[in-house]
Amino acid sequence: MENYELDFSIERLGECRIPSPVRGIRFMDDDGHVLYFSRFEEMNPWLEKGIRPPAMETAGPREKIFFDPSQIACGIVTCGGVCPGLNDVIRSIVLSLHHHYGVRKVYGFRYGYEGLVSRHGHAPLELTSDSVARIHEIGGTILGTSRGPQDASEMVSTLEDLKIGILFTVGGDGTQRGAQKISEEAARRGLPISVIGIPKTIDNDISYIQTTFGFETAVAEARRATYAATTEADAARNSIGLVKLMGRDSGFIAAYSVLVNSHVNFCLVPEVPFSLEGFCEALRQRLERKGHAVIVVAEGAGQGLMEKTAERDASGNVKYGDIGVFLRDAIKGYFKQSNLEVNLKYIDPSYIIRSMPANPRDAAFCLLLGQSAVHAGMSGRTNMVVSYWNQQFTHVPIKLAVSQRKKIDTRGMLWNSVMAVTRQPDMM
Ligand code: ATP
Ligand code: MG
Repeated sequence: MENYELDFSIERLGECRIPSPVRGIRFMDDDGHVLYFSRFEEMNPWLEKGIRPPAMETAGPREKIFFDPSQIACGIVTCGGVCPGLNDVIRSIVLSLHHHYGVRKVYGFRYGYEGLVSRHGHAPLELTSDSVARIHEIGGTILGTSRGPQDASEMVSTLEDLKIGILFTVGGDGTQRGAQKISEEAARRGLPISVIGIPKTIDNDISYIQTTFGFETAVAEARRATYAATTEADAARNSIGLVKLMGRDSGFIAAYSVLVNSHVNFCLVPEVPFSLEGFCEALRQRLERKGHAVIVVAEGAGQGLMEKTAERDASGNVKYGDIGVFLRDAIKGYFKQSNLEVNLKYIDPSYIIRSMPANPRDAAFCLLLGQSAVHAGMSGRTNMVVSYWNQQFTHVPIKLAVSQRKKIDTRGMLWNSVMAVTRQPDMM
């Protein structure tokens, strides 16, 4: 069934009448688009029906803008978990607002959406070119983050009081759902406030976005862990290296880590169910054949094998069972029963990976994302996130970005390659 309704149109606050002050760069065609499909066969149903195939707006600077930069302040907020590149994005937004457009006041709201509610008493930081000059050299977020719901009406009042024209929301699916509510509340009150999201997901699991910042750094850092696991597994008879990596609902980091270190023998991801018996049996066969094994497991894999907890975090996200520790103990228990002495080394590098500064490619990517977000906001677009699609920066409505999670297509190229490398059997 083809989805002819796929609607990438972006909300706008009004007509762009002000000549852009940006100098020395080429402006983008205001009506430029990037095709959603990259293969001709996928587009055929649209072409046969004579309908324009779906396409996303191209990001970039426009010749005419909506806001008068001398009349507005801007705000930046970071929410959810930390991820490599957050400070790069903050820095890029501040520098672009100052140097490209001449916006004089940029506020950094502290501790996520809490910083937008005056009751919490976190005064915003005033961000300048000087104050952000070297923040990209450190991990985390200089603004702090938080979880938990805040009232959209209170947040919009803060934006109104500070004369904010554009609010940049850097965060995951939850953050962008919150951003959508802020944008709707501002529209309801007739306030010309643009809300532009910069999607943050180390798991790379947001829909309609092919690449998110921090993912590449995460895969690069995860390599240290899989190399260590391989070294440990190689060092003694019947040795097992087990690495837990991030990936709550989508196993992209785990899958790419297998391709980076092709010594991995088992890759367990949320998208592919397995039974404990099936997995342990396959592991036993591998040890009998080779005497060592390396396993990579994504944090959201095998959740059905553990007792369910009803626990949720402050934002309402279900707390997952620790599959790494569960597997470590289950594997030890299984081989103890079969009287086979195994040597298992368990590595969980998650917090080390999350807190890294961005690697060079992610740093460059963050810079361009931040600039694209600023151009989008200045042109009065709102209720959207900046995306990267078919090798270009684009605009995507928040509604679409949060509509579903991006997952590994288990019939696609990536998983096929993972299977070709690990040659793991079906373990159901
Ligand atoms: P990550 O999943 O990477 O940690 P996230 O942005 O999804 O990032 P959350 O803690 O789920 O992290 O959400 C961040 C903020 O967005 C929280 O303050 C949360 O209350 C708010 N939020 C989440 N979902 C919604 C929603 N449906 N409506 C309004 N606000 C929301
Ligand atoms: Mg989330």
